[in-house]
Amino acid sequence: MTAKLGYNEVNGAVLRRLVEISGPKSVFNDDETREKYSHDETLGLSHPPEAVVLPSSADEIKEVLSLARSENIPVTPRGLGTGLSGGAVPIYGGIVLSCERMNRIIEIDRENLMAIAEPGIITGQLQETVESEGLFYPPDPASLDSCSIGGNVAEGAGGSRAVRYGTTKDYVYGLDIVLPSGKTIQTGGKVVKDVTGYNLTQLMVGSEGTLAVVSRIVLRLIPLPRLRMDLLVPYSTLEEAAHTVSEIIEARIVPTAIEFMERNCFELAENHIQRKLVFRDAAAHILITLDGNHQEALEESRNQVGEICEKNGAYDILVAMTRPDRERMWEGRKCLFEAANQVGGMYKSLDVVVPRNQIPTLVKTIQKISGEHKIESMSFGHAGDGNVHILLFKGSITDEEWDTKIERAQKDLYTATIQLDGKITAEHGVGLLRKPYLSMNLGANQVNVLKHLKKAFDPNYILNPGKIFD
Ligand SMILES: Cc1cc2nc3c(=O)[nH]c(=O)nc-3n(C[C@H](O)[C@H](O)[C@H](O)COP(=O)(O)OP(=O)(O)OC[C@H]3O[C@@H](n4cnc5c(N)ncnc54)[C@H](O)[C@@H]3O)c2cc1C
Repeated sequence: MTAKLGYNEVNGAVLRRLVEISGPKSVFNDDETREKYSHDETLGLSHPPEAVVLPSSADEIKEVLSLARSENIPVTPRGLGTGLSGGAVPIYGGIVLSCERMNRIIEIDRENLMAIAEPGIITGQLQETVESEGLFYPPDPASLDSCSIGGNVAEGAGGSRAVRYGTTKDYVYGLDIVLPSGKTIQTGGKVVKDVTGYNLTQLMVGSEGTLAVVSRIVLRLIPLPRLRMDLLVPYSTLEEAAHTVSEIIEARIVPTAIEFMERNCFELAENHIQRKLVFRDAAAHILITLDGNHQEALEESRNQVGEICEKNGAYDILVAMTRPDRERMWEGRKCLFEAANQVGGMYKSLDVVVPRNQIPTLVKTIQKISGEHKIESMSFGHAGDGNVHILLFKGSITDEEWDTKIERAQKDLYTATIQLDGKITAEHGVGLLRKPYLSMNLGANQVNVLKHLKKAFDPNYILNPGKIFD
């Protein structure tokens, strides 16, 4: 991962120019900072940048990119480094451009139900601010207390509420972006309808920092639902849990969230949160969130969902109505990536998505394939929108054995996902991790179109090179 691909290094003259642009307190090239910005939260991927710049305005981003282009130095945009596909890892060195200091909410427009924010604001902070005004920004990645809105836009982040409210893409209405040439453009805006030219706003969502740097974001808001209720439902078999998910959707009930985790996740979560989970003898848990404005309607939905759960074998239903109870109920599910990183040891994470009615087949297939390859696996995730995270653990086998096994297991899991009309990533992105499997899913023609788009935006290949495809 150290090839330079013909790029130039950040020499003394370039460093001095960076200091002129952003000031001495915003440019770093010491070992400690370079190490800190060498990785995101993806296990096993890291490479140090030669310099780190923390701009405080779009003008600074513009100047950094112009400099990088004229000096032929790669630039890796970064939010808060919680990515799970290696998107912010500067594999060719160069400059990491972190938007963490551009973290203001510029406006909450109550008349148009829109917010304008800088990319570095923490997603959870933006949510709390708009909620204090009775407004709602629904996308809720499990990392919301530590990731940025800019990173969410670049990854097209999802979350548990996607079942009812969609993902980041459904709320991004306009962007200010800085192109790799240093030129700036504004896409979309506060308007609800807009077909003025190609939809560049949506092209940016999920572009993983490979096409432009996002410097300002216009987000749609909706009214905050007044009531919320969460259910924790245990099952004796994984199949029963999976069937419940598709039956709830088929019954045309649209909960806010339907998440699941299988039994072998429980111990991992318990070690991390330092307490035992309820219903820890179950084969799987489903977590369901319902929200609305009318108590009666909410209770009717709860009864309908409860009936479907019981019909499918649920042996209890725990209800949480208050915020502390809800947080306690979700703690085990939300901590699983952090918990996996904390235990140490190698693992790979997959982020597959299938049409929702294929969830029971997918869950069975995951068990079959991990069994065939004799790899310990854990499945959990956003089952209500068809998105399952799979962790595959190395255990005590040798590195060589692991490399062969994991390669084959991933290929088999991706093949099965594609056969079910699914996709190899739902919300974590392609980045470095899933790059080898992209054309398996999209085919050569589509990958070629993506490459042409990249060239149109970034003819010198200085922006986040090596991500999504080579
Ligand atoms: C415990 C945990 C739970 C998670 N749960 C979820 C989840 O439920 N749903 C989900 O979708 N993800 C989840 N993630 C993944 C991650 O939090 C998201 O991908 C998030 O959007 C990354 O935001 P970030 O600010 O950390 O971005 P970074 O990791 O810093 O960067 C991610 C990508 O965005 C690009 N980028 C960042 N800022 C900009 C910008 N201003 N302009 C252009 N490109 C930019 C980077 O180049 C990189 O390619 C989870 C991660 C962890 C660690």
